[in-house]
Amino acid sequence: MNALNKFIVASIPAVPRPIVRKFASRYIAGEEIADAVRVVKDLNRQGILATLDLLGEDITRKEEALAPRDKILEALQAISDEKLDSNVSIKLTQLGLKIDKNFCLENVRQIVSKAKELRNFVRIDMEDSPVTDDTLWVYRQIRKESENVGIVLQAYLHRTSDDADELIKEGLKNFRLCKGIYVEPASIAFKEHDGINSNFIRVLEQMLKSGAYTGIATHDDVLVEAAYRMISSMRLQKSDYEFQMLLGVRSDLRSKIVRDGHRLRIYVPFGRQWYRYSVRRFKENPKIAGYVFKALFTRFLSN
Ligand SMILES: Cc1cc2nc3c(=O)[nH]c(=O)nc-3n(C[C@H](O)[C@H](O)[C@H](O)COP(=O)(O)OP(=O)(O)OC[C@H]3O[C@@H](n4cnc5c(N)ncnc54)[C@H](O)[C@@H]3O)c2cc1C
Repeated sequence: MNALNKFIVASIPAVPRPIVRKFASRYIAGEEIADAVRVVKDLNRQGILATLDLLGEDITRKEEALAPRDKILEALQAISDEKLDSNVSIKLTQLGLKIDKNFCLENVRQIVSKAKELRNFVRIDMEDSPVTDDTLWVYRQIRKESENVGIVLQAYLHRTSDDADELIKEGLKNFRLCKGIYVEPASIAFKEHDGINSNFIRVLEQMLKSGAYTGIATHDDVLVEAAYRMISSMRLQKSDYEFQMLLGVRSDLRSKIVRDGHRLRIYVPFGRQWYRYSVRRFKENPKIAGYVFKALFTRFLSN
């Protein structure tokens, strides 16, 4: 991020919410399940798979976990009723991980069991490093009970290759690999683009070689090309892996991956808690400074 973008991102809390919302709209399906259903139907028509994500994270009281849990159950039912090709992604801090991991496990259990009843699948997103161990703990517990659940590992963490190794040895072979989006200290994470990319390639190779079903989650051309080469040299079948991208990001790359005949899944966030997710997306968007300035300027002129 250049200095101007850093400044803009730091100033976002001062930007009126309607303006932030306007820019967020490209990354978010809408506030309701019906909005997500509409977006997924459109993706499915283009031969693209989806994963639904109910926005929200970091609750502070147990009662706050119940509404998101029920909403995710509702989303699973909607996927089934509407015959969508979509699974769900869940964030454990939205389901009480930071309050009581056993309570969180119970919430996840209900979601995974509903998904199993509907022959669907649950992906556990990975959040920031203070919850990595507990997230992996919940995953390991739930995986003992059910196979229709997978985990995410982040290439920017130094520990990730070891985590992948251990999970593979335990026979837990369903991953999404992404770079990682949280701000982590240099003592535990690669901070530079090249270090993150090298680790991504290393861990991806580890996963694919082990026969793990891997969601290759990136918008980075270099990593997509590296993945293409591995897929070809390992002679993988289309059913052995998928590419994954976020809604609203790099539609050019999305079309290329589909054109090249690979499975592609789009992460489709929906819900009312859109703010923090949107700010994380803005940080990654090199053009955001220009867009936000233009919008603020236009608003100023029209007032
Ligand atoms: C399906 C999916 C699921 C994810 N799940 C998790 C998770 O569970 N935990 C986690 O920590 N992270 C998750 N991430 C986020 C991921 O870690 C971040 O997106 C990461 O910081 C950016 O990685 P990148 O591969 O896009 O590479 P980058 O180097 O950041 O981006 C590559 C190129 O993509 C373009 N680009 C990227 N983002 C944007 C944007 N927002 N707007 C416009 N252009 C953009 C830019 O042109 C950039 O040059 C997920 C990402 C995907 C795709």
